[in-house]
Amino acid sequence: MFGALASRLQTMISLRKVLFSVVLASGAIVVLGPHAAWAQEYTVLVKGGHVIDPKNNRDGVMDVAIADGKIARVAPNIPESNAKMTVNARGLYVTPGLVDLHVHVYAGTGEADSFAGDSSIYPDGYAVRSGVTTVVDAGSSGWKNFPDFKSRVIDRAMTRVLAMLNIVGSGMGGGETEQNTDDMDAAATAKVAKQYPGIIVGVKSAHYRPANWISVDRAVEAGRLAGIPMMVDFGGSVPERSFEDLVLNHLRPGDIVTHMYVRRYPVFGPDGNLLQHMLKARERGVKFDVGHGNTSFSWQKAIHAIKIGWLPDSISTDAHVRSTLRSMKDFPTVVSKLLAAGLPLKAAIEMSTVAPAKIISRPDLGHLDVGAVADVTVLRLNKGEYGFPDGSNVRYPATG
Ligand SMILES: [Zn+2]
Repeated sequence: MFGALASRLQTMISLRKVLFSVVLASGAIVVLGPHAAWAQEYTVLVKGGHVIDPKNNRDGVMDVAIADGKIARVAPNIPESNAKMTVNARGLYVTPGLVDLHVHVYAGTGEADSFAGDSSIYPDGYAVRSGVTTVVDAGSSGWKNFPDFKSRVIDRAMTRVLAMLNIVGSGMGGGETEQNTDDMDAAATAKVAKQYPGIIVGVKSAHYRPANWISVDRAVEAGRLAGIPMMVDFGGSVPERSFEDLVLNHLRPGDIVTHMYVRRYPVFGPDGNLLQHMLKARERGVKFDVGHGNTSFSWQKAIHAIKIGWLPDSISTDAHVRSTLRSMKDFPTVVSKLLAAGLPLKAAIEMSTVAPAKIISRPDLGHLDVGAVADVTVLRLNKGEYGFPDGSNVRYPATG
């Protein structure tokens, strides 16, 4: 049982299709490219690691064999002679490739101070080294600039990049552009979403300040028309637009609240118990996502929440330029923080793989089924003394 306050998760290897880098424990780097056919049955054998594959209830030492970019076999003691290459994973954890449900990767447009530009990061510089093989861009583009995002980033990336369309047609341009209700067209958003099934996997409402429901309701409407969920980054809870009303009356089952451990709206009452509407929201199927970000993760909220069982449906980073430079850093760091707060490792892996894949209706991802795409991550759990800051630079010590 893991649980202990002490662990720091570190990516060792991330395998994605047949082109990948292998960072060995020694620090040596082996870069592999596409191969010609060979006699051995398997391309790669990841040997002797502790496999955690929650969808298949695997939790123990076994080998993972890969052939033709697919998972070929998961079992103990697969002979090395059957494989062209063996990766020694003894003492390490082997999991499905991690799925990051909330990132910003619409980089390169030249738009200053914008998530549809300079505030975004390129996916390949972040994801694979973090153990992440699939990212979901959460609303950096809208229906008007999604085609540019696709040709500029999605089609060129080694990382699998999926997207939620911003309800704002011009995307997450910052400032007043995200308040412009004239640019929030549910029908146009749904029309573009339906043109890219499986790639556009949701609709996003974010950064909306006025005390009305236009942004949320139009994003929900677009999601309804396209048959996909919406994700909301909700501002402060005010009487005219309360968090309670959001989760009970505006969101549908399957819609997602990101930034679940942010400080700005209450989750517990003065007695420390979960507020009733949070329980009711979960009962009716609203999903709660971590979305750590730059300032959207508070120890004060997360530690108590995890203690009383208010756990994430999915773990995500909200990776962008500032969050990767400050306390969020990368996916393993976010998981490490949740482990430090008491979340068991197996649950954390489930929330980082099969659970987010299910939320975005991509049942082909997040597991090691035979025949599944060979997205595999190898992680090391370091023991020692660590200190993890939150978005307000409050430091939580983790030792053990
Ligand atoms: Zn975000």
